[in-house]
Amino acid sequence: MLHVAKPYIGEEEINAVIEVLKSGMIAQGPKVAAFEEAFAASCGATYGIAVNSGTAALHAALYAAGVGPGDEVITTPFTFVATANTILQQGAIPVFCDIDPITFNIDPASIEKHITEKTKAIIPVDIFGLPYDVDAINAIAKKHDLKIVEDACQAHGATCGGKKAGTFGDVGCFSLYATKNITTAEGGMIVTDDPKLAELAKQFRHHGQSQTVRYYYADMGYNYRMTDINAAIGIEQLKRLDGFNIKRKEHAAILTAGLAEVKGITTPTAPDEYDHVYHQYTIRVTDDFSMSRDELCAYLREHEIGSAVFYPHPLHLSDHMKMAKGHGTQLPHAEKAAAEVLSLPVHPGLTEADMNHIVHTITSI
Ligand SMILES: *Cc1c(COP(=O)(O)O)cnc(C)c1O
Repeated sequence: MLHVAKPYIGEEEINAVIEVLKSGMIAQGPKVAAFEEAFAASCGATYGIAVNSGTAALHAALYAAGVGPGDEVITTPFTFVATANTILQQGAIPVFCDIDPITFNIDPASIEKHITEKTKAIIPVDIFGLPYDVDAINAIAKKHDLKIVEDACQAHGATCGGKKAGTFGDVGCFSLYATKNITTAEGGMIVTDDPKLAELAKQFRHHGQSQTVRYYYADMGYNYRMTDINAAIGIEQLKRLDGFNIKRKEHAAILTAGLAEVKGITTPTAPDEYDHVYHQYTIRVTDDFSMSRDELCAYLREHEIGSAVFYPHPLHLSDHMKMAKGHGTQLPHAEKAAAEVLSLPVHPGLTEADMNHIVHTITSI
């Protein structure tokens, strides 16, 4: 079976974990500090704050960006649920916009229409590994004095105009879950150049404790700390990131070369100046194809090829989002994407032969 995602753990990661376990220091300690420094440097950011999930990263970043009860936060409905759940976790109101049908990312024109006096921030998502429309959305944020919390959970190492994902807004959030471009099993990372924001994120990660006075709690907080065990894995994975991304891009190029001309299949693209890191290689299966999207998924499974639908239910139609603005409305591009998308295997553990096999299996239908 060719799986749609598969983590790569080498001897280096295993040895690094053993070293931490034997050291006697297993919770947040020197490995976390070293990982934060290396990760921030790899993005070209000043501060890195490690946490125990991408969800925790988004929650802490929203808090640090000043998002609180009653504030409106504009985001996309075509993303993993955690993007919008963290807005609710802060007592704020998600505001759902439509997406661009080509990039699958939030549409800047739709954002402008949804800005009110209550709007505090935008969470653009670098979906599938392609950064958001940086120039247009940053200009909107500047004009209306809004914070940008970039959800880069799928975009480790992606670039736009030579800058790295995570650094396009005020604060960037990464997930290090098992299936992401690099992993710590579970984990997350916040990157920023803003010292105040970094301090507040660190405070939030540790129960709201003041960064200067021990056992003095400056505000509400959580236990979002990463362990040195996870950080030790992360330090090794970070060294592999560029190599992993090169493989993903090579695999994507084989799929695109083989599938671009197939009637009823639309292959993913990246605008000029953008480097897509293909966390997912996501095609559209349209009415012109000889099978429905779900039939193609089942057919591939019968042929030992995994595929997956990210994401079948746009969040503005989700029951628990009923307090969100845009809940239950029509966001046609997001809904069409949810009905048509299919992600094919592209991870670095696959071979060129595997990729050709996937192409051949689809073109021979
Ligand atoms: C994975 C992911 C998250 C959440 O990260 P976890 O580490 O699973 O908590 C948030 N947003 C997006 C876009 C993701 O892909």
